[in-house]
Amino acid sequence: MNTTPRAEEVEQRAEGVNLLRVPGVRALILWRGFPYVFQAVLLATLLVLIAVAWRRYTPPGVAQKLYAQTNLATLLIWGLWWPAMVWITVFLGRAWCMVCPLELVSNVSERIGRRFRLRQRPLHLWIASGAVIVVLYALIQFLVAGAEIRRVPAYTSLFLIGLLALAVLTGLLFRDRAFCRGFCPIGLLLSAYGRGGMLAVRAGSGEACRACTDKNCIRACNRYKADGRSCPSLLNPPVLNDNKECLLCGQCIKVCEPDNMRLLLRRPFSANDARDAAASWPMTLFVMTVSGFVLWELTTEWATAQKVFLAVPRWISQYVSAPSLSSHVTVFWATVVVPLLIWSFFGLLARLLGHNASLGALWRRLALPMAVIVAGGHIAKGLAKFVSWAGFLPYAFEDPSGFETAAAISGGLLQPPVPLLSKPFVAVVAAVIVAGALFLAMREARLANHGKTGFAMTAPLLLTTAVFLFLTIGWALPA
Ligand code: SF4
Ligand code: SF4
Ligand code: SF4
Repeated sequence: MNTTPRAEEVEQRAEGVNLLRVPGVRALILWRGFPYVFQAVLLATLLVLIAVAWRRYTPPGVAQKLYAQTNLATLLIWGLWWPAMVWITVFLGRAWCMVCPLELVSNVSERIGRRFRLRQRPLHLWIASGAVIVVLYALIQFLVAGAEIRRVPAYTSLFLIGLLALAVLTGLLFRDRAFCRGFCPIGLLLSAYGRGGMLAVRAGSGEACRACTDKNCIRACNRYKADGRSCPSLLNPPVLNDNKECLLCGQCIKVCEPDNMRLLLRRPFSANDARDAAASWPMTLFVMTVSGFVLWELTTEWATAQKVFLAVPRWISQYVSAPSLSSHVTVFWATVVVPLLIWSFFGLLARLLGHNASLGALWRRLALPMAVIVAGGHIAKGLAKFVSWAGFLPYAFEDPSGFETAAAISGGLLQPPVPLLSKPFVAVVAAVIVAGALFLAMREARLANHGKTGFAMTAPLLLTTAVFLFLTIGWALPA
């Protein structure tokens, strides 16, 4: 008996396990109701949460944060779903997109627009590059922190309605999954954080694709079918080699008659994926913005660090005697001024170390490895938030509006729930995550640059990790 595996088998084993070989998973992905039924259930849940949060403002005498923790909508969306989504994206890639209700909304509105013969345009390349998403993401940062969207349920419900309206509008006016490709405010985050995800859709044998005459996975006539479609995101499944834009929707798997598509479970940051040596400008600006935001988020768990980080914006707000502008000044500081200062310092450092490329070129080369460290900081902060908010869940199910719970806790009649894990333990786990992220970021930089990184590239990664580590270790200090 010949026990030597064929070269193709060895190659496929190194790429990971094909989950479609698991009967339950295969049946699920090939089911006509997938992913629509899951998306519809999540859409119904979203509508219920919008209703729960509708016109619910913080009651007098109750802290905004406490009310956000007790209202079911703000608790589920900001306290639990958002941190979990960041974790899921970093570890599994764009798995959330697989079942996202907004994709269903834009899909249905696109079909309605086609039915009514609206003139639906293809997405301009500059929109598909993420230029609008950067602006939307920045705008949302201002709204989230400046208008306290996360803390006031009524604003959260308006925000969600706005997202649904944007998905409908872009679905009506554009074609080919335009909302996901050019307008979803978290599209760049999913693309940046999900690159190393363990779930990936990839073609199997290249020979099978070359021999395939139908090419159903890319044929335009299959694109607008209800199910078993050619890639609705206009990707080319036979040569797909990264996770940037694939939503894991499974349509190419369903439509491939030779059964040559695979749903792989691989090691994180698979070496088989293609890497860009330089990020696009929208992605670079996104990583810069989010690096400042995550730095700010990490300080929020350590009062002294937060005081230092916010000293300048607080001084400015006092100096111009405009306390109402304080939160907007803070967001501008964290997401614009601090990133510009830090990334300019990285440029200066690179120059001192003999790196001759322009500042823009350095930023673009640095963005994707840096995104790994930023994602590490983000999931560390997400863990801290999740463990301190999750204990409110039983109360929120009993009293979804949160009015009575918040009033009882504020009045001392009810004890707030204790965090699921102690702060020192969370600090240690967070530090391990950030250190692990550095290892992966260095590897990403090496793989993207064919082994030639240099100290000008690695110094910013080391410095950012050192600051993140310092902050996470500080969480363990007594308040
Ligand atoms: S890109 Fe945005 S809207 Fe589209 S599926 Fe992913 S999360 Fe949902
Ligand atoms: S339909 Fe399947 S076999 Fe044909 S080109 Fe697409 S992925 Fe390859
Ligand atoms: S490549 Fe396949 S799984 Fe990915 S978005 Fe296109 S159809 Fe969906």
